[in-house]
Amino acid sequence: MSTIQEMKFGTKAIHAGVHADEATGAIMTPIYQTSTYVQEAVGVNKGYEYSRSQNPTRHALEKNLAALENGKHGACFGSGLAAIDCVIKMLNPGDEVISTNDLYGGTFRLFKTIFEKYGIKFHFVGMTDPAVVEEKVNENTKLIWVETPTNPMMSIIDIEEMSNIAKKANAWLCVDNTFATPYLQNPLDLGADIVMHSATKYLGGHSDVVMGALITSNDAIAAEMYRIQNASGAVTGPMDSFLVLRGIKTLHLRVQRHCENGEKVARYLADHPKVDKVYWPGFESHPNHAIAKKQMRGFGGMISFSLVGNSMEQAHEMVKNVKVFALAESLGGVESLIGHPATMTHASIPKEEREKIGVVDSLIRLSVGVEDAEDIIDDLKQALE
Ligand SMILES: *Cc1c(COP(=O)(O)O)cnc(C)c1O
Repeated sequence: MSTIQEMKFGTKAIHAGVHADEATGAIMTPIYQTSTYVQEAVGVNKGYEYSRSQNPTRHALEKNLAALENGKHGACFGSGLAAIDCVIKMLNPGDEVISTNDLYGGTFRLFKTIFEKYGIKFHFVGMTDPAVVEEKVNENTKLIWVETPTNPMMSIIDIEEMSNIAKKANAWLCVDNTFATPYLQNPLDLGADIVMHSATKYLGGHSDVVMGALITSNDAIAAEMYRIQNASGAVTGPMDSFLVLRGIKTLHLRVQRHCENGEKVARYLADHPKVDKVYWPGFESHPNHAIAKKQMRGFGGMISFSLVGNSMEQAHEMVKNVKVFALAESLGGVESLIGHPATMTHASIPKEEREKIGVVDSLIRLSVGVEDAEDIIDDLKQALE
């Protein structure tokens, strides 16, 4: 068989990092549910000493994820936020971070309420205009943090442009690739230094795990990443590692269908008389469509839309009346989910602030699942009526 680097995506999803169990031939990676490992003599072991530091099930997943992102090193954490926590712990007091303003709420909370008090400064800016980012760069800038597509407005940020700015500033670029998945977008290939994932979403794909991951090809960053993973201890367990490994085996199939269903739903909503605006990067009329086409291989199943009249009550009515969709936080599972950002994910942001980035009262966010498109659309149709 060709080397992992030469394999196509679907082959890597299934084979990278895993091998039949040497003791039994089991084709699936065993769940090494163990905290410690017997040593033959002092200092003589098989590469595993204690499961915070190393665990074979987690290792298989970390190698698999590194391969999917075309990176050298992967590390898994107890949640997406624990992975982000690790990146910021690589910085020092006085360092500055420039971040996307239309950002996952938990990331914003971590930056503002945990790390600011340790002397790290965060600037939140709209990154669709690179000049706005360049304006914030100074000699203390150590990290540019990008989320693309953004949540919930589905803006697209040019990763190559951000990488050029980061390199000029001698700073790192980290991209939260949760929404796009490695099937649609590989930030390391576009110049990013670190890729971050909430594996809770599309990578796991079945709404049964909370997990995070980091991938890098930079050996110095990797050394820090593994040091902090072990020293801070926010690791993921072997059972969850197994579940995400299993989920990834169908990542390419699932995301293909998410994209197909996403397109059908976006086009249906765009033609609906009760729908005002539809935010989906696959539309040619989307303001960042050209960048999406340049850096993504598909446009995904995440869609936001607003209602004509912009009534909060009508939006609440709509999300209550769906039957195939489930009203819930999160995204990226096989089942379709619906959410109301103004009262759910973005409730803590003052009305004027959230409206500035487009989160109006009637905005509804969909994570379009992999059910039959006809049933998904029929459900939206009856709920809009
Ligand atoms: C969910 C999510 C996170 C946080 O991940 P957890 O696994 O919930 O800790 C970070 N970024 C994005 C874009 C997310 O959707």
